[in-house]
Amino acid sequence: MSGLAMPKPDAETMRRRAEIVADMRIIVPGEGVVDTVNEMRAFESDGLTAYRQLPLVVVLPETVAQVSRVLKYCNDRNIRVVPRGSGTSLSGGALPLEDAVLLVMSRFNRILQIDYPNRIIVAQPGVTNLGITTAVEQEGFYYAPDPSSQIACSIGGNVAENSGGVHCLKYGLTANNVLGIEMVLMNGEVVRLGGSHLDQEGYDLDAAAILLCEADGTALEVAEEIARMTEVLREAGASAITVSQSEAERLRFWSGRKNAFPAAGRISPDYYCMDGTIPPKQLAHVLARIEEMETTFGLRCANVFHAGDGNMHPLILFDANQPGELERAEAFGAAILALCVEVGGTITGEHGVGVEKIDSMCVQFRAQELDAFFAVKRAFDPRMLLNPNKAIPTLNRCAELGSMRVSGGVLPFAHLPRF
Ligand SMILES: Cc1cc2nc3c(=O)[nH]c(=O)nc-3n(C[C@H](O)[C@H](O)[C@H](O)COP(=O)(O)OP(=O)(O)OC[C@H]3O[C@@H](n4cnc5c(N)ncnc54)[C@H](O)[C@@H]3O)c2cc1C
Repeated sequence: MSGLAMPKPDAETMRRRAEIVADMRIIVPGEGVVDTVNEMRAFESDGLTAYRQLPLVVVLPETVAQVSRVLKYCNDRNIRVVPRGSGTSLSGGALPLEDAVLLVMSRFNRILQIDYPNRIIVAQPGVTNLGITTAVEQEGFYYAPDPSSQIACSIGGNVAENSGGVHCLKYGLTANNVLGIEMVLMNGEVVRLGGSHLDQEGYDLDAAAILLCEADGTALEVAEEIARMTEVLREAGASAITVSQSEAERLRFWSGRKNAFPAAGRISPDYYCMDGTIPPKQLAHVLARIEEMETTFGLRCANVFHAGDGNMHPLILFDANQPGELERAEAFGAAILALCVEVGGTITGEHGVGVEKIDSMCVQFRAQELDAFFAVKRAFDPRMLLNPNKAIPTLNRCAELGSMRVSGGVLPFAHLPRF
């Protein structure tokens, strides 16, 4: 069994399941409610397949009014809700809870407006990331943040995870490319944050008017970027640096990078993809320490990363059929994330915290910082019903793990500035 601790389901919600399912069918008629075990299996995990849990019921609304009614219903009755886009999260963000409605946004799959002069597109949250680019590419535009999962992942999921991709070193992450969102609060209220203009009044809460980029930099810009990257890589101790000399060679390099994850499947039955970020100049040091950890944990690790922004994706190789290997892989992953913090980095680059890295949050953040995160969450979701027990650990949880000083203990890496 893995080390993941799931909260105990709420007994009252479980007792009222049949009534809740019947009410969901009234709010979302037709085929929008899935409640049999066999059909719900398709939703029992996201991209982090090591963790699985059937939800209370799966609901697939089609209109904002239905989303609002589902949330208000759940809020009034103290029922938890877990939203889901395409289910490609690698951190368990969309992992269902036994006592929670799984609110699947995939039927919101329409592009509502394309405004070329202002380089803006307005899309529903279930549109795929690649679907945005496909809609505008014939006019010479594309949407820059491009996760490798872009053929499947939804723009709503990208916003929730602040996802990145190979273009992000130059154009920033999702948060830097989204101007506004319409969002439904847990009490059913529909609010708009931001809009179709670049500068916002008030707090920049970000996130579905989306900026488009024109395809792509000048030769001078490309040369400058290559020079900058070469410098960074040399400082990090790279033994060989090769810059592609032709379009065919460039595509071959990219094919190597894009196929690195699937290729891991050729050398190991399972792999666990980590996601931490370090200052790029620490790359050589961190890779050497990961090699030492391979001996400590008795598992191999293949290192894939975006060297430019310091985002590492160590692939910890294991066999889930061998007792204890998943737990060792989890412990190996947590040690890598602690190392990222130790060298001045962070526990996530782009895959989010979800359930996977929740304990590592205790290593990175102080009690006051976690309190501040909870205060922001409470402002939108006072009863903490929306996707609970993900992303932000309670102070008790951190204290139990001994990972954080709550009173009197020693804070790990206390010399480092906290974020
Ligand atoms: C092969 C592969 C490669 C990947 N490569 C990358 C990569 O290069 N870069 C990267 O950043 N990520 C990558 N990922 C991770 C993943 O694709 C991203 O995190 C993506 O943004 C998740 O989108 P989704 O629609 O699948 O969201 P889901 O997995 O369904 O959900 C993710 C989170 O978002 C929330 N959520 C989803 N939709 C909504 C909504 N409409 N409203 C509110 N909350 C919502 C969920 O509750 C959950 O917490 C990869 C995943 C895979 C499987």
